[in-house]
Amino acid sequence: MKILLVDDDANIRSMYAEILANAGFLVEEAADGVEGLDKASKNVPDLIFTGIDMPRMDGFALIESLKKDPVMAKVPIIMSSHRGRREDEAKAKEMGVSEFIVYVTVTPKQVVEKIKALFQKKAYLLKFNRDELDAQKLASDFQIDSMNYKCHKCGEDMVLSLEIINADNHEFRARFICPACG
Ligand SMILES: [Zn+2]
Repeated sequence: MKILLVDDDANIRSMYAEILANAGFLVEEAADGVEGLDKASKNVPDLIFTGIDMPRMDGFALIESLKKDPVMAKVPIIMSSHRGRREDEAKAKEMGVSEFIVYVTVTPKQVVEKIKALFQKKAYLLKFNRDELDAQKLASDFQIDSMNYKCHKCGEDMVLSLEIINADNHEFRARFICPACG
C-alpha cells in the first residue's frame, strides 16, 4: 500500500514517513500541494495524507485538483491539522476527506491505526453473472428482481460489494448494492 505524505513541515514529514514505513507502507513524500499533485498523478497512491497550510498550494486546493481527475478522485484522504480549526474540519468533511486529525490530540501510533482501519474498509464492486450457479436463487432470496437484477429506484444493474474484513484470510462482507444509489 502506497501512501503519499504531503506536508511542508520537514520534521513532521520525516517522522511520519519513518513511522509509516515501519508499519509496512510504501511512503512517498511531497513538500506542498504542487509537488503532491505531481507525484500523485505520476504514481497514484492508495492513500494521501496531507497537511493544510502549505506554500504554493494548500491541502484544500490539492484536494480540489485531485477531485478533477477520475482516478485520483477515488483515493482516500486523511487531512492533518496543527490548529484544529472547526471550519477546516467542516470543509474537509464536505470535500469527502475520510479522516481529519489534529496533531495534538492523536499519537502517531493512533494515526497508523486509523490508516490501517481505512484500508480495511476497502471495498470492491463486482458484476456477477446472473445465469451462473446460484445467482438467481441468491437474488430472489434477497428480493432483487430475479429477471434483471435492476435497482428498484434508478434501474441500474445491481452489483456485489465486497468489503475486506480480513485480507489475510480472504474474508469479505458481501452486499448487493446499486452502484448509482449506493
Ligand atoms: Zn439505484
